[in-house]
This record gives sequence, C-alpha cells and structure tokens, in this order.
Amino acid sequence: MPTIVVLGAGVSGLTCALLLAKKGNEVTVIAKHMPGDYDAEYTSPWAGANVLPMAMAKDSRWERRTWPELARLAKEVPEAGIHFQTVRVLRRQKDVAEGFKAALSDGLFQPNPWYKDLMPDYRELPKSELPEGMHSGCEFTSVCINTAIYLPWLIGQCAKYGVKFKRAVLKHISEAAHMSHTGGKADIIINASGLLACRLGGVMDKAVYPARGQIILVRNSAKGLMPTVSGSDDGEDEVIYVMERAYGGGTILGGTYMKGNWDPNPDPNIAMRIMKRTVQTHPELTGGKGIEGLDIIRHGVGLRPAREGGVRIEKEMIDGTWVVHNYGHAGWGYQGSYGCAERVVELVDEIAGQLKRTSKL
Ligand code: FAD
Repeated sequence: MPTIVVLGAGVSGLTCALLLAKKGNEVTVIAKHMPGDYDAEYTSPWAGANVLPMAMAKDSRWERRTWPELARLAKEVPEAGIHFQTVRVLRRQKDVAEGFKAALSDGLFQPNPWYKDLMPDYRELPKSELPEGMHSGCEFTSVCINTAIYLPWLIGQCAKYGVKFKRAVLKHISEAAHMSHTGGKADIIINASGLLACRLGGVMDKAVYPARGQIILVRNSAKGLMPTVSGSDDGEDEVIYVMERAYGGGTILGGTYMKGNWDPNPDPNIAMRIMKRTVQTHPELTGGKGIEGLDIIRHGVGLRPAREGGVRIEKEMIDGTWVVHNYGHAGWGYQGSYGCAERVVELVDEIAGQLKRTSKL
C-alpha cells in the first residue's frame, strides 16, 4: 500500500485521511491548525454546519454521495455530534423576479430543485404557510453538525485506523513528502489546505479567495427549524440562515458571504443586522422578544475557501511526488466531504496502480 501524507486537518483532510486509512494505507496528517484551534483562516470549526444543497445540477456527485453518510451518522452514531433538523427555504418575490442572485447558493433556491429526490420529506410550502413578501418555499429533513464534536470525532476515527498526526507549517507542498511517520518518503501527498492553497509554495492557486462568513453563536433554541432566505435587503453579500447544533452546541445565526474580504474580526454593525434579520425570519428564537431576547455566546468570522472555477480535485506531479488536490469547497465543505474524499481515494488508487506497474511501489 502507498505511504500517504495528508496536508490539512479541516473536514476535507480528515475525511480523506479516514477513508484512505480504512483501506489500509499508511497515513500521516500534517497541519498548522487542528480541531480545537480557532483562526478565521482555518475554516472548518466556524461552519454551522448543515446540509443545504447548493449544486445547480443533479450530477453533483459531491453532495449526492455525502448525504447518505451524514444521515447514517445522524441516525446511528450519536457520538459524531450530528442531528436531524428541518430546513425551511424561503424564496423572496423580488429574488424570483430577478432570477436569483443569492450569494450563498443559487442551486438551493431553484423552484422544483434537483435535490427534492435526495432530501427526505421534501414538500413545497402552501401559500398559507408563507411569510409576507415570499413567493414560495419548501421544507425538507436535513442535518446540523456540531463541528466542535464532529472534528474531534473524525480525529478519533482516524486514530482508530492508525493515522498519525503532526503539527507543522509548510512553506512548500513538497516538504510533505518527507514528513510521513513511517520515516520513509511519501508516495502520495493529499493537498487539503483549504483557503491557504493560495499561499502554499508549489500550488499558489490564484483562483482561491476568501468568502468571509460572520456568525453569532447564541444559547437560544431554533426549535428544530433551520430557516434560510434567498436574499436580504442589507446587501447582496449579507445572507440569512439559522441552525441549532446538536447536543447543546448553541444556535448559529448567519451571516455574510463577502467575496475577497480577509477581515478576521467580527463587525458590530454587521452583527446587529444579522441578529435583526434572523429574529425577524424566525421570531420563535426569542419567543417574540426581538433581538433583546438573544443570549450571545460569541461572535465569530470564518473565511470560506472559495475558488474561481469551483473545487479542485485532481492529481498533479510536483517535484517528483504525486499530489492529489482537494481544496476550494467554498460554503459546502461538510455537505460534500464524503463525495470529494471518495474521488480522492479513486485518484490515489489510480496512482498506486501506476506506481505498481512501474515497480515504484
Ligand atoms: P480548512 O478547514 O480551512 O482546513 C485547512 C487545513 O489545512 C488546516 O488544518 C490548515 O492548518 C492546513 N494548512 C493549510 N496550509 C497549511 C500549511 N502551509 N502548512 C500546514 N498546514 C496547512 N459547509 C457546509 O458544508 N455546510 C455549512 O453549513 C457551512 N457553513 C459555513 C459557515 C461559515 C460561517 C463558514 C466560514 C463556512 C461554512 N461552510 C459550510 C464551509 C466549510 O466550513 C468549508 O468548506 C470547509 O470547512 C473547508 O474545509 P477544508 O478542510 O477544505 O479547509
């Protein structure tokens, strides 16, 4: 089996490490940030995270292949920190008239969406259930992942299958080839460096940029509902979503999708607008008491790893070592995590076959 070094301990790197280790590969994970750290450039801890399908077309294997595994974890593995919740998607009249320019995702808000056959209990909302100003809406069963539980759970699962972990900051992707815990040179490197792929030597992907997400974590319960709206009157990069994390993780109020903005500090004016919008959309959050009824745990900012042209999952030979890239998941890194990691495993298998044929393995 090949010796593999995974660069990155976000949801992308850890899911790849787990699937690769389960197949018997020798896997080492190298990362600057690990679960437990909070830094805007380490995106995974900041995510809600829930499943709001974002692809425009049915053929997105990333989301289609991930949903069954997240649903299985929610149903059968309580220690993973995932629970079922009901998504309510609201399409505003003005956004439908303008053909949608949703910052968060166009795919989510399409009428008659492809994902109605994927997500359980899908139903269109009758007019009587629509708030004022809404053209239409739908509900379906989804999950919310408590990332503060799920990321450490992934580490534990990786450890169970023999993955080893090292903290390091790499200047160049090729350094990873010499960092396997086995002491030997790695046959394959997995590049799951997220947003920092734009600064990593040997990669320096100029198509990668931050999509700044500001959130507020509150103690209020969302009562099983995860509402989201197709737009807001506060600007194209200000969005609306609410989701309650499993097992007392608090409720995330979001948010923003600010392209090219690297500011890691919460902006108090934006925070005020987020609170107003979310309480207006979901008054049950504070039992009708308005934003004064919110009980704030903390404010935060995470930078989504967006990429012109979309996610990069492909193999490339760099300085004599095969690298499989898996970065640029923007706002869907969790809901596409297993689908993308499966593709990484396929590429690793292709490379391993080639190395065997040329007696290099
Ligand atoms: P990261 O989590 O950023 O991990 C990158 C890793 O690479 C880190 O360990 C880092 O230290 C390491 N690294 C990078 N460069 C180096 C280097 N040079 N040397 C050593 N280590 C390095 N997604 C969903 O699916 N559902 C949601 O509901 C959702 N909500 C979100 C809400 C917000 C506010 C935000 C900010 C994001 C949200 N996302 C959501 C998106 C999701 O969080 C990201 O797509 C995902 O976390 C990206 O994970 P990653 O592993 O690719 O990157």
